[in-house]
Amino acid sequence: MRSIYDLDIEELEEYFLSINDKKFHANQLFSWLYDKKINNIDEMSNIKKETRDRLKKDFSFNKLEIVKIEKDIDVSKYLFKLNDCEHIEAVIMNHDYGNSICISSQVGCNMGCKFCESGRRKKVRNLTTSEMVLQVICAEEELKEKITHVVIMGIGEPFDNYDNVMKFIKIINNPKGLKIGSRHITISTCGIIPKIEEFISFPYQVNLAISLHAPNDKLRSTLMPINKVYPLNDLIKTLKKYIEKTNRRLTFEYILLDGINDTKEHALELSKLIKGMNAYVNLIPYNSTDNLGFNRSKTIQIMRFYDILKKNRINVTIRREFGTKISAACGQLRSKEESQ
Ligand code: SAH
Repeated sequence: MRSIYDLDIEELEEYFLSINDKKFHANQLFSWLYDKKINNIDEMSNIKKETRDRLKKDFSFNKLEIVKIEKDIDVSKYLFKLNDCEHIEAVIMNHDYGNSICISSQVGCNMGCKFCESGRRKKVRNLTTSEMVLQVICAEEELKEKITHVVIMGIGEPFDNYDNVMKFIKIINNPKGLKIGSRHITISTCGIIPKIEEFISFPYQVNLAISLHAPNDKLRSTLMPINKVYPLNDLIKTLKKYIEKTNRRLTFEYILLDGINDTKEHALELSKLIKGMNAYVNLIPYNSTDNLGFNRSKTIQIMRFYDILKKNRINVTIRREFGTKISAACGQLRSKEESQ
């Protein structure tokens, strides 16, 4: 049965019209679900019984089952069980500016990045819009604090599940519901060019982050197979178009892997590649996992890399670390849970 959390407000309006009922129920229902976070239809006192009964017949109102929560000082990780018994995870980070959640967009992932735990399991299916929306709602309820920022950087490649992800953004952004401002939403992709092109005309001011991780095709193709399909030059060309058309600043994510992509030459090559772009580089200390054979760069190497970018007038930050103790990097918790 279709989940009620799959429908945006226009679709709810259409639904009510299609059952010869009043369009304004869409607003009422939306407010119950997203503002008051109530999913028990019988509590929805301003919707008449007949309509409530029909809703019960047509939709599932279930939330997600939280199987496990791991907490550290500023971070907690949620493992959810879906209706078909698959597991996905979301991570909440407490910043001084608010709470951000990192959500998953697929079960498994087909991108096969060599350093990433999620890619060890091939894509099983896309997440539905409701499964993404419910990660936010259920985690927020459990946290008992407002979630202010959403990043789509958990398991999966969001641009390989484009339509469901875009509708998810539309629903969480709605001022009558969760009210998460579009500038507080970030979508991260490994670089699927046709979808970046499509995203240029997506009418919400959502941030875009690109997982770059290497400054040349040879290295990038060994780390990220997607680079063989969409090589760097083409990617950069598309990103320049994105910046020009949207006037938005782009983020490049760059994981530092010891001895692989963290030398002085790599830093110089990276500076040259993105010089002049309205973008900044987010250097990510690698969250080591047992299975993949990569190590994080030493702190001194990270600092050196940072300095070279700075000297070349590239905007750069080093990502604050969360959750190294609780395996918060992409795919690590699910992987641990399922190997037990
Ligand atoms: N598929 C999307 C979003 C999911 S991955 C993408 O590729 O952007 C989110 C980010 O986490 C990516 O930049 C990914 O490369 C990075 N990542 C994966 N495994 C990691 C690890 N062990 N430590 C740190 N970052 C990791």
